Amino acid sequence: MSGEKTIFKKIIDREIPANIIYEDELCLAFNDVNPQAPVHVLVIPKQEIPSLAHLKDSDQELVGHLLLTVGKLAKTLGLDSGYRTIVNTGKEGGQTVDHLHLHLLGGRSLQWPPG
Ligand code: C5P
Repeated sequence: MSGEKTIFKKIIDREIPANIIYEDELCLAFNDVNPQAPVHVLVIPKQEIPSLAHLKDSDQELVGHLLLTVGKLAKTLGLDSGYRTIVNTGKEGGQTVDHLHLHLLGGRSLQWPPG
């Protein structure tokens, strides 16, 4: 990939601050700066993958790890009554940062459908 680092890559590289709540060799989780629920965490791969649309078959293990991490964090954060996991993809999907990220939202009753 070429061009400027995304804001999430800068967080991974500790060039800008974030409230990081979990990290392992493959991913990072931090509180969203503009939370849409009492719990709003972003789980991102350390690998630079722009979006879900850019995933390859070889990323299967990584994607599984990201989802499992969301589930484990939800448990750790006490979201026993449920939560929502969202992956916005592309312009019409509402994606604003071109680095794959999974939103974990919880701590209140969430409505459906989304806007
Ligand atoms: O799915 P989408 O691309 O819209 O989500 C990007 C998310 O990244 C937003 O919820 C925004 O609040 C969050 N963000 C952040 N820290 C930053 C920049 C954006 O948590 N420095």
